[in-house]
Amino acid sequence: MNIYNNFIINIIKKELKKNKNKKICTRFPPEPNGYLHIGHAKSIYLNFNIAKKFNGKCNLRFDDTNPVNETKNFINSIKKDIKWLGFKWNGSIKYSSNYFDLLYKYAIFLIKKNFAYVDELSSKQIKKYKGTLNTPGINSPYRNRTIEENIKLFNNMKNGKYIEGKLCLRAKIDMKSPRIIMRDPVLYRIKYFPHHQTGNKWCIYPTYDFSHCISDYIEGITHSLCTLEFQDNRELYNWILNKIFTKKYPKQYEFSRLNIQFTVLSKRKLKKLVEKKIVSGWDDPRMPTISGLKKRGYTSKSIKNFCKKIGITKQNNLIEFSLLESCIREELNISAPRIMAVINPLKIIFINLPKNYKEKILMKNHPFKSKMGTRKVYFNKEIYIDNSDFLENATKKYKRLVLGKEVRLRYSYVIKAEKIKKDKNGIINVVYCSCDLKTLNKKPNNRKVKGIIHWVSAIKNLPAKFYLYENLFLDKNPNNSDDFLKKINKNSLSIKHGFIEKINIKNKLKKYFQFEREGYFYLDNKINSKKLRFNRIVKLKNSYINKK
Ligand code: ATP
Ligand code: MG
Repeated sequence: MNIYNNFIINIIKKELKKNKNKKICTRFPPEPNGYLHIGHAKSIYLNFNIAKKFNGKCNLRFDDTNPVNETKNFINSIKKDIKWLGFKWNGSIKYSSNYFDLLYKYAIFLIKKNFAYVDELSSKQIKKYKGTLNTPGINSPYRNRTIEENIKLFNNMKNGKYIEGKLCLRAKIDMKSPRIIMRDPVLYRIKYFPHHQTGNKWCIYPTYDFSHCISDYIEGITHSLCTLEFQDNRELYNWILNKIFTKKYPKQYEFSRLNIQFTVLSKRKLKKLVEKKIVSGWDDPRMPTISGLKKRGYTSKSIKNFCKKIGITKQNNLIEFSLLESCIREELNISAPRIMAVINPLKIIFINLPKNYKEKILMKNHPFKSKMGTRKVYFNKEIYIDNSDFLENATKKYKRLVLGKEVRLRYSYVIKAEKIKKDKNGIINVVYCSCDLKTLNKKPNNRKVKGIIHWVSAIKNLPAKFYLYENLFLDKNPNNSDDFLKKINKNSLSIKHGFIEKINIKNKLKKYFQFEREGYFYLDNKINSKKLRFNRIVKLKNSYINKK
């Protein structure tokens, strides 16, 4: 890893100066209740790279204490995405549920030390008794049971003697603490729901706050990195470990969450988009999920590069979508071969070329990387250009093909629009042109031709579908509102049928292309599908500049 630096790395460097033999161990702890999104990539990049930088380890631990929303499918997708990003976790995969037996013992330990009690208030009452930032909480009437009674009730909870929500285990801390999280937080709750790892063994499950710090301790995590909203939980994290363990325990550090313009980064909200069928699934190319970005055509390198650029700080901010786009553009500008594709075809017929006119024009595959070689592109009596590249009447500013005027075809001839044919509805469907055969990559005599447009032979080509994506939301920050579904961009996908040059598409390496003047595209084909499908990853230029 090169120039990657942040405040957490600086803290570790200082610690290592004092204690040279310290082994660094981090963890990435996803809850398997959805697919990973690019916000998770930020956390993955941080945790795995810190371990790498300091010769340490990074565990993958599924934080699976809430079986109701968790599935094996989510677990598999998370594993796949981390591997695809190019990271390797330390040893076997861990689960918080691996420690359910131990966690139960530690809960009993806390009860025995009079640091935990079984409460009978309902969740509504608990909330009410908690107080607010300005008013202290009130002790539960069940707070002072005897230790024996607490142990008996907790065991009964475990043995399925009560209905859900009837009882819970709470830490006995301080109902008047200025931090609400310290007002006797819940440690265990009853849930009759089979768990994807432990089946029907448990009907009580630990809370995040109780299981996370202990899981970190058990695994020997040294730096437990999480996002800013857990800042207040740090006190509880330390309180629990301090009450149970005597050895030095892990430390929690917080950094800011990633937010990106025009999208949401919350599994709950992304799940809504899937359930409401606003997108085709978690891996829809408009989704900010790792699998969605992958299907769109983002490479893992470009995502990692993005994570490096945004860095790690304690300031919450909203990152411009164009930063993510610039990362893939930068990469593909160097690596993607150029070809021509016509997305909205308009037929051109050359009136001065014979019916069977055939030619193959030599073109470079990349403007400045000669190593990428050349190819021959078919040129015939009939070609396609893009609909938007022709106007019957136009102002001087319009630098493309206009009736009676000339334009250059990319890497080939100068042509002139002579007449047009319209269909029944008055829409132009053929433009008859003359082609100046003396102008192949040469300037014409006595006249200037400014515009250059791309084209594809209408005789020898490959038909293709183009999936053109726009941002999913119309609002810069849809995260802000509860009504985020109202901010959906209804035109975020359009599918077009057009043509690309006849190239050898079977070459597996050829997945990423720059379509001249159109953008970077990814070949997203199912093996048996007849028509090629290309997803537009990104346009050639930043398109977000003028949006509100
Ligand atoms: P979500 O709100 O999307 O469900 P989460 O924090 O509940 O997010 P987890 O699966 O618990 O999701 O997250 C695993 C790790 O990824 C945590 O350490 C969390 O802090 C981190 N993480 C999640 N979202 C972001 C984000 N937007 N930016 C940076 N890190 C994130
Ligand atoms: Mg979570």
